[in-house]
Amino acid sequence: MPDAVSLLPILWLIDSARYVVAASLMTAVLAVFWRAGLAERKLQARRATAGDIGREVVLSLRTTLVFALVTVAVLIAARHGWVMIYWNFDKAGPLYLVLSLAVMLVAHDTWFYWTHRAMHHRRLFRLFHRTHHLSRTPTPWTAYSFSVPEAIVQAAFVPLFLACVPMHQIGVALFLAIQIGRNVMGHAGVEIHPPAFAPGRWLGWNNTTTHHDLHHETGRYNYGLYFGWWDRLMGTEHPDYRRKFAAFALRRRPVKAEPAE
Ligand SMILES: [Zn+2]
Ligand SMILES: [Zn+2]
Repeated sequence: MPDAVSLLPILWLIDSARYVVAASLMTAVLAVFWRAGLAERKLQARRATAGDIGREVVLSLRTTLVFALVTVAVLIAARHGWVMIYWNFDKAGPLYLVLSLAVMLVAHDTWFYWTHRAMHHRRLFRLFHRTHHLSRTPTPWTAYSFSVPEAIVQAAFVPLFLACVPMHQIGVALFLAIQIGRNVMGHAGVEIHPPAFAPGRWLGWNNTTTHHDLHHETGRYNYGLYFGWWDRLMGTEHPDYRRKFAAFALRRRPVKAEPAE
């Protein structure tokens, strides 16, 4: 399939743009609202260095190349009928698109939780996941800072899901947008979620920045991506999560602010 392979540069560009735009937007939001209250919501006293951010950008652009290679494989597989992406609403309407997108997000959260926990096993950690944890203090640029083996694990979800569930191309595009959006929010380093995201409140089933930041800070607990269900079910929610989110988002205790950069 030479024409699918010839799309590789443009696919790499699109995936890289998705990352750069999302991380830049998050960085801009943090800069604009820093003095308006976000400084008090910075989760770690430590600051990511310029070297950290440079490494994260380079590794993330390598990850988007892996994603682009997997997308080429998906296009080839789609032509053979091994995965199902459709392009019109003849067979399934917008309601199916919304439902299949919801199923895809729940399935991805499950894939992420269990592969993430597996990659923390001492026999797998060094090869798969150590690279991501070089970022002790995450920044929006940490989003795709993976080793190549981890990038392959992360990329494998989409073809595996599409082999089981047909998706409209808009559904896949929305999935990719939500995925990078939630990813940069989780790595923002500053609690940007409103109090409604506190566990027990009406949006509390979603993870927050504090949730994933604690994972980076401690290297344990909080393995989930979008939702807290698996961590609560498996007893892997960080014992300090609820107190820390309350401290930073609900202002349950005074938090020392750091000066802006
Ligand atoms: Zn981890
Ligand atoms: Zn992370």
